[in-house]
Amino acid sequence: MSAAKARSVFAALRAQHPDAHCELDHDGPFQLLVATVLSAQSTDVMVNKITPELFRRWNSPQALAAAPPAEVEHVLSRIGMFRQKTRNVIGLSKLLVERHAGLVPRSLAELVELPGVGRKTANVVLGVAFGAPEGVVVDTHVQRISQRLGLTQHDEPPEIEQDLMRLFERTDWDALSHVLIFHGRRVCSARKPACSACSVQKSCPSAFHAELVGRKPVRAR
Ligand code: SF4
Repeated sequence: MSAAKARSVFAALRAQHPDAHCELDHDGPFQLLVATVLSAQSTDVMVNKITPELFRRWNSPQALAAAPPAEVEHVLSRIGMFRQKTRNVIGLSKLLVERHAGLVPRSLAELVELPGVGRKTANVVLGVAFGAPEGVVVDTHVQRISQRLGLTQHDEPPEIEQDLMRLFERTDWDALSHVLIFHGRRVCSARKPACSACSVQKSCPSAFHAELVGRKPVRAR
């Protein structure tokens, strides 16, 4: 797809989801960083259920760095991989205190040195908290919808991200991922895409036959 067509598709999707935003509840960069680390292999809805208690008890890098791991594990116990995530949020809090004066750094290179923080998490924080992403966040929704719309011919997030970075202006990278995630959650779902309710059906090469496009293959048992 040409950059011009991709941008017109994005404009139509943006008009369909004018309220697209990060759906992880947070107050400030530290809470966003922790919530995003917790959201790996989990849903935003579940993370939003547990973070109020987590931040009520430990609402700063200094506090979470000194928190008893068993107590943090107990608060996080309803989400997957809670033991590993406990180690990560305590570990990243310690590094924030030791290396960054308790502040969340503003560069991808510094963020990915924190435990549990990869390129995707770092760009969520840079985009949402600081308005300065260094890439496009490619989660399962962005991956699937980019493939369905023909924005990429690749299957893996790193290559899809490069394609999206080439097609769109840097100033749109943050909004692009939120709009595609909103579209994936509300219209273009993995199993039952609602093509008849989609603002870009006329431009979408997968319209009305998208069920098998951009879905993970069924695992052999
Ligand atoms: S037309 Fe269908 S497959 Fe294409 S983006 Fe819209 S909902 Fe998804």
